[in-house]
Amino acid sequence: MAKKQFKAESKRLLEMMINSIYTQKEIFLRELISNASDAIDKMYYKALSDDKLEFNREDYYIKITADKAARTLTITDTGIGMTKEELDNNLGVIAKSGSLSFKTENESKDGHDIIGQFGVGFYSAFMVADVVTVTSRAFGSDEAHRWQSTGAEGYTIEPAEKAAPGTEIVLKIKENTEEEKYDEFLEEYRLKAIVKKYSDFIRYPIKMEVTTH
Ligand code: ADP
Ligand code: MG
Repeated sequence: MAKKQFKAESKRLLEMMINSIYTQKEIFLRELISNASDAIDKMYYKALSDDKLEFNREDYYIKITADKAARTLTITDTGIGMTKEELDNNLGVIAKSGSLSFKTENESKDGHDIIGQFGVGFYSAFMVADVVTVTSRAFGSDEAHRWQSTGAEGYTIEPAEKAAPGTEIVLKIKENTEEEKYDEFLEEYRLKAIVKKYSDFIRYPIKMEVTTH
């Protein structure tokens, strides 16, 4: 399948993320949890405006699964999900968060603080992962699709299987280098601490599971 290229602005931010020397790499988890929470919010608001739709709280959660042997960190949500077009439009282009234009203006002053303060969004996953795979099924659809990217090279989208609506994001965590350590993002105590630090206010349950094999 042909690789699609990221839009120019997205590519710039993406490159910043991939080559980030930023010390607070941990914020990627805050960003992915916040997106998962937004996706569940969208189901909640949908249910409010639709009498036929019930919002049962126990059906809505975010799950973080670390697999040390496979070096994968998976963030799953039971939110509204994305269609093929939404995967293409929302993950192929920088969203309307406005953080990029702000960053462009202030980058030279102090890029680091700005990354920490503002929502940098989905692309922050590339600070810790060399492959990102997003499998999603939109609410109301029985089709699922898989978006995959190794970063600057672009991304692919293909049909996939998914039993229920929602989104699953698998991060293939980078190998440690001399300068940079990534193993910690597969450690339960570390993940718990990051969740506590940045995502304590999230209104949906955040479940966690770590396997070692
Ligand atoms: P922002 O959250 O500021 O819009 P992001 O880069 O974090 O920017 O995310 C881009 C877009 O991708 C979101 O606006 C949303 O439409 C979509 N998205 C990302 N993660 C999810 C998810 N887990 N479920 C549904 N949509 C998502
Ligand atoms: Mg976001």
